[in-house]
Amino acid sequence: MKSVKILLSSLTFLLLWLLAGCNLPEPGPPPPLPPTPTATQMPLIPSIGPEFPVVLPTLPPVSRGVFTLAVLVDLNSEPVTRDQARSLVTEASQILFVLTDFTYQMVDFQETRNVSGMDQMVSDYLAGSPATIPNGIIIFSFGDDNRAKLYGGYSFSHPGPGGFQNAFQSPYAPEGSVYIAVIHFGHRFSQCGYGDSDTPVSSVSIDGECRNQSGIACVPKNGYQMCSNAVDDLYASTPTYFAAATFVHEIMHPFGPGGDRDHYWTRECTASMATGVSRRPYNSLTFDQFESNSYVEMCPFVFDNFVNSYQPTVSVPTVTPTAPVIFSIPTFTFSKNAFCRKGPSVAYEDVTAFLQGQSVQIDGRNQDEPRWWWVLIPASSGHCWVSDSTGSASGPLDGVKVVSAPPLPPSPTPTATPLPPTPTPTATPKK
Ligand SMILES: [Zn+2]
Repeated sequence: MKSVKILLSSLTFLLLWLLAGCNLPEPGPPPPLPPTPTATQMPLIPSIGPEFPVVLPTLPPVSRGVFTLAVLVDLNSEPVTRDQARSLVTEASQILFVLTDFTYQMVDFQETRNVSGMDQMVSDYLAGSPATIPNGIIIFSFGDDNRAKLYGGYSFSHPGPGGFQNAFQSPYAPEGSVYIAVIHFGHRFSQCGYGDSDTPVSSVSIDGECRNQSGIACVPKNGYQMCSNAVDDLYASTPTYFAAATFVHEIMHPFGPGGDRDHYWTRECTASMATGVSRRPYNSLTFDQFESNSYVEMCPFVFDNFVNSYQPTVSVPTVTPTAPVIFSIPTFTFSKNAFCRKGPSVAYEDVTAFLQGQSVQIDGRNQDEPRWWWVLIPASSGHCWVSDSTGSASGPLDGVKVVSAPPLPPSPTPTATPLPPTPTPTATPKK
């Protein structure tokens, strides 16, 4: 079962990273299985697929920074094309943007044959004096010992060339590291009825498929047989969503301290979140499959580590930006730091805050002027209200529904609450 496999995929990460170059230890026992979700929820992250015709060039969301990636293709495993790679980077970039306001950018693409291991592939690439030393490298491959084929992906870090400083310096990785993720591009999320075969051998799940439940009906989705209890998962929403989410997951791992213990809803994750290390929504009481998928199975605080690691002064982008990601949904972009409130006026208490340059999805508006927007809180299913005066709305606004205001709190705050401070390059407040 692949969402277990994604959890497993980094069991060895910490060791790998500390003992770069050593042989990989075998993965340990699997963590407890999450319960089957009871309700279907709408995907949080907009997908550019057949269900969302993309025609709105009005709002290029403002990226807070770009994480550059070189893409290496191991032709002995999978012949991933440049277009496929670019498309997957775009899909992963949308996931990253929703979670962090950062985006990915592919700055190089190379195909290789006869590779003698993933680490060697990285060494060879860096020894070839690429025009830009990227922040990270994605290798499309089955991986050393087919590890990526088995789990979907895994990650490690590799020393950059002498003098290289990564603009995303993880507090846990050696200075000047380049972050590497090995990804099985064609991985079938929640495949059903395959066993160890490349073609279906059963019409029901076998051999630990479908969250370790045998006998679950297989249904066609995304071009293969999928577990019927997984077809509504966020990860099944596009044929490549799993690969994109794995991509984000793996390249995020170096920014957590604990390897597999940094996964969503581990005991360590829940303990860390309870300390208030992150303001991101987190359901510590019951395993929330949708929330887990929305965080690409990582503990929420790791994304804060990633954001806070950014030191833009150490790296000057030397490449021409590609076309920005375009969303086909109503979107609000903040021109200043702003609170988001329980209702459409400053009389309501704040629920969370957004930073200048952040973008959020608009799901409703108030009836009267002045205009307030009812926006989706990223990586959650919750909403709050933002004043139109704190930024600009764009996208298909005509269809935005009117949402009625909740009752005012009994004793409204008499004075306006000051906004959070504008971030400086050296001290970035947590979201
Ligand atoms: Zn992992």
